[in-house]
Amino acid sequence: MAESSAYGGRGRPWHPEFVEYMEFIVQHPVYSGMPDAYYEPGRIQWEAPSNRSSGQFKDTHGRRAKWWAAKAAEIGVSTASDQWISRVAKTIHPTKLKPCKICGRQLQLRYAYPQERLLQRLRDLRGVPTDFQFDPLEPISDLVLRLDRHCGSTVISQLPSVFSSGLKALNTKPIPRSMPEWIDWLEKHYIPSEPRGVLSPGAMSNAPDRFDGFHCDNLCCRKHADKGRSKENLQTYVTDRRVFEYWSAGDWVAADRLMGLVRTTLSSATCRNGHQGPCAADHIGPISLGFCHRPRFQLLCTPCNSAKSNRMYLSDVLLLKQHEATGETVVSWHSRAVWDLCKDRVGTDEHARRLSKLMRDNRHSLMAALKEVYDANGLTYLASLLELDRANFDVTFTELKATDHLTAYAKLVHSARDTKYAVEQKVRRLRIAFDELSAYFEKRNRNAFVACPTTTHLKRAVDSLSKARSGFSMQEALLAKANAAAKDAQGSLFRASLDSTRAVPASAFAATHAALEAHMNQTGRTLAELWESDRYCREIAEDVD
Ligand SMILES: [Zn+2]
Ligand SMILES: [Zn+2]
Repeated sequence: MAESSAYGGRGRPWHPEFVEYMEFIVQHPVYSGMPDAYYEPGRIQWEAPSNRSSGQFKDTHGRRAKWWAAKAAEIGVSTASDQWISRVAKTIHPTKLKPCKICGRQLQLRYAYPQERLLQRLRDLRGVPTDFQFDPLEPISDLVLRLDRHCGSTVISQLPSVFSSGLKALNTKPIPRSMPEWIDWLEKHYIPSEPRGVLSPGAMSNAPDRFDGFHCDNLCCRKHADKGRSKENLQTYVTDRRVFEYWSAGDWVAADRLMGLVRTTLSSATCRNGHQGPCAADHIGPISLGFCHRPRFQLLCTPCNSAKSNRMYLSDVLLLKQHEATGETVVSWHSRAVWDLCKDRVGTDEHARRLSKLMRDNRHSLMAALKEVYDANGLTYLASLLELDRANFDVTFTELKATDHLTAYAKLVHSARDTKYAVEQKVRRLRIAFDELSAYFEKRNRNAFVACPTTTHLKRAVDSLSKARSGFSMQEALLAKANAAAKDAQGSLFRASLDSTRAVPASAFAATHAALEAHMNQTGRTLAELWESDRYCREIAEDVD
């Protein structure tokens, strides 16, 4: 084995795994006759740039190009065809695997690696836990298999929509049903079809610049990797899908950023119950119960966090009331009534749990009401509830620290941010919120109690929509089209609808929103009257979703 220091200058030696691979390739019969394989005995000439103007090897690039053309003829690839040279490089490669020159990591040469777009689609599937780890260097087949093992049948049933364009383009019939069929389709049909923008190869081809016809830097270390993979995006794409599912109010962008910062900079703080970290950010009032997604969190270690799950203790209720007393909005508009009517009755952990159950039913009631609006072509109005323009700003916190097991900072600073990124966040929020609304009662009919299925207020809200809509029928049509489209077409359609959706003034919905608010207030009053009822007092199996 050659000394790895024989290659690479300026203190950046090529990785030993890569040097070993070079030797394997140069001696492989497939590449026999490659011109100028060595600079001198024992020293491989791996690179053959096209811009050498002088010296013994100035024609190496051209001579190697001829070698590739002869190889193409040998294996029956026409040099008149599109990308013939990279097809030859991929076809003749003896292992289809290559280590990275920089880090030594071995990756497949095939289009096996999911791009951010695809990862996002998978992250957003129903039933995928928010802490599921996604790694862009995990081949797609392995990832799908792992999702299936972790999340069960909910994932497999959604795969046809995840890969709908691929299934269509490849004219796949019948559509795979079992996991072995899916893996087979991915490996034998989808990956070989090299779907750009969805999957990436482990290394890009660039014959004849490199001996084997591939870039030295693999996907892991590529300098100009997709934007979607950039650190900023990985960090900020942590938005909990549930924030969108539950129509939470609040500065969701600031809250997300702070959640990410807790993970990266405050995780060594101690848990509020005195345990050693790492700690995660706990919404003191769970968003699944109608509380805001706001930039203020309590630090809980993993066991305490999962023990708390989606309910409140007495200490949480007291803390929320404390924050309210300083003028903070802690609860979303739709859950204000039940919270306000019950919060002062909470004097024990049992009461706090009772209130949690009431608020969960308030959520079921909210989703039922929003579904009515949704079914009555109220998408433009619903979009106005999502606070999409929050995404136009990035957020930084000054002097961030943990005080009494809570996040604290001196100042929250907003700054305008990259439009493209803002657009993607808005599209994602729209898509998830609508998606969840249409599926909500399909997956949760077992214990969902809707307190006031119909009220005159709700009827008024729906009626007012048809009146208001005459002013923005075009916007409604655009949103409806995007919402009804297949998953892979949805992004561009939602994107196209954004500007016109924003152009609708909030006043257009004043009557609708007032009526819906009145409906939720009545719902809250009805639930508050059930404070002593069996449904909320009895110790029954927790409804955890
Ligand atoms: Zn690498
Ligand atoms: Zn703890």
